[in-house]
Amino acid sequence: MTLHQNLIAGEWVGGDGIANINPSNTNDVVGEYARATADDAKAAIAAAKAAFPAWSRSGILERHAILKKTADEIMARKDELGRLLSREEGKTLAEGIGETVRAGQIFEFFAGECLRLAGEVIPSVRPNIGVEITREPVGVVGIITPWNFPIAIPAWKIAPALAYGNTVVFKPAELVPGCSWAIADILHRAGLPKGVLNLVMGKGSVVGQAMLESPDIQAITFTGSVGTGKRVAMASVEHNRKFQLEMGGKNPFVVLDDADLSVAVEAAVNSAFFSTGQRCTASSRIIVTEGIHDKFVAAMGERMHGLVVDDALKPGTHIGPVVDQSQLNQDTDYIAIGKQEGAKLAFGGDLIKRDSPGFYLQPALFTDAHNQMRIAREEIFGPVAAVIRVKDYEEALAVANDTPFGLSSGIATTSLKHATHFKRNAEAGMVMVNLPTAGVDFHVPFGGRKGSSYGSREQGKYAAEFYTTVKTAYTLA
Ligand code: ADP
Repeated sequence: MTLHQNLIAGEWVGGDGIANINPSNTNDVVGEYARATADDAKAAIAAAKAAFPAWSRSGILERHAILKKTADEIMARKDELGRLLSREEGKTLAEGIGETVRAGQIFEFFAGECLRLAGEVIPSVRPNIGVEITREPVGVVGIITPWNFPIAIPAWKIAPALAYGNTVVFKPAELVPGCSWAIADILHRAGLPKGVLNLVMGKGSVVGQAMLESPDIQAITFTGSVGTGKRVAMASVEHNRKFQLEMGGKNPFVVLDDADLSVAVEAAVNSAFFSTGQRCTASSRIIVTEGIHDKFVAAMGERMHGLVVDDALKPGTHIGPVVDQSQLNQDTDYIAIGKQEGAKLAFGGDLIKRDSPGFYLQPALFTDAHNQMRIAREEIFGPVAAVIRVKDYEEALAVANDTPFGLSSGIATTSLKHATHFKRNAEAGMVMVNLPTAGVDFHVPFGGRKGSSYGSREQGKYAAEFYTTVKTAYTLA
């Protein structure tokens, strides 16, 4: 089996590899991928530092062309790359192809941003002086990504970093190196100069840690767990480095008495269980007012009964496997915790066997839960959700906001008054009305509040805030 190597200073390097395993079928090895050492990470950082002066002054048309070429190749190969994604991560093929298309769209968007970046000219308060405000690249950007969106998250960090003239050291999650390697390969062949993008696959505690400790990385963008996010923050403060964190969620989905039942059920099932519940925007707290509660729970049970959990690549599969054994253990531990806490496991929650050996779990729905239970406070990151019964809209909003997190928040209602009030008062970075809490556009800001996020928003033109630094220049006329 060919070894997929790391890309450092424009060369493919590295010998020691590990197998990338398909969670739908653990006998299926997706490929061998190199594991970088701390010294490899240091070499990658040095290469990015050396490449920065030239790349930061490169013409915007050159950057545009490389990002556009990358977008075009991703789009042309969407079926193949989507399949690779589903094989290494376990989300369904439709979801894998959809995510790949999104990555292509993101590169296309930021190819355009290369040509649109503008500054401001403002008169000085002093006579005969002009003031120009411009944005410049930050320097070497460290990118650390999680396993749950193997192509979209790398795309939404790499594309703006390069578009605005930064150089990159990129460390993908160990579980899903395949899509990241493919992006690095495409960018390399699209003509990116040596050292502008360096790929260092490997362990967080080795490669990621070496990045955190380096004085030569000027900014780190991270998506992953709260614990690692805190480490990134602490190490970054030490180095006076810019940082941006996207971490957990415990997103509420409110269902009011006046909701359209089928809209509410569809959005709740999607929010809680699609992509195997492994989305930071997934909803695991379904807050339902008492007038619709029993009807809603019955309809959820019926809808869940029709969900097919199977091999991600099989036609007809709605929900693929959990990503690996340790995540599966976490999911089943929380199902046990929910029962101990006194919630009622109304549907699902069983481990299931399929034709191939994989990490299959029936989506689980608890009822009779309350918001202080651990299953309602801690992020599970699996297909496990809890229904919390409340009296009215006011209580629903209070429960929705009673969480340490604040990424996404949803409501199902036909009331304009409640929808409008919820949009204004939900303590979250993103609010969805009659839509799932997950599933966002690629050209508008993404991010949260409270314990979910730190720093400026990702995606769309708001990404410029993180990937550039502002300069104010005064000239005497
Ligand atoms: P998850 O639960 O999604 O795996 P992690 O925070 O463990 O969340 O992982 C997210 C990313 O952070 C991965 O690329 C992982 O390798 C990396 N990572 C883990 N530990 C560290 C660390 N000590 N320093 C830097 N990066 C790390």
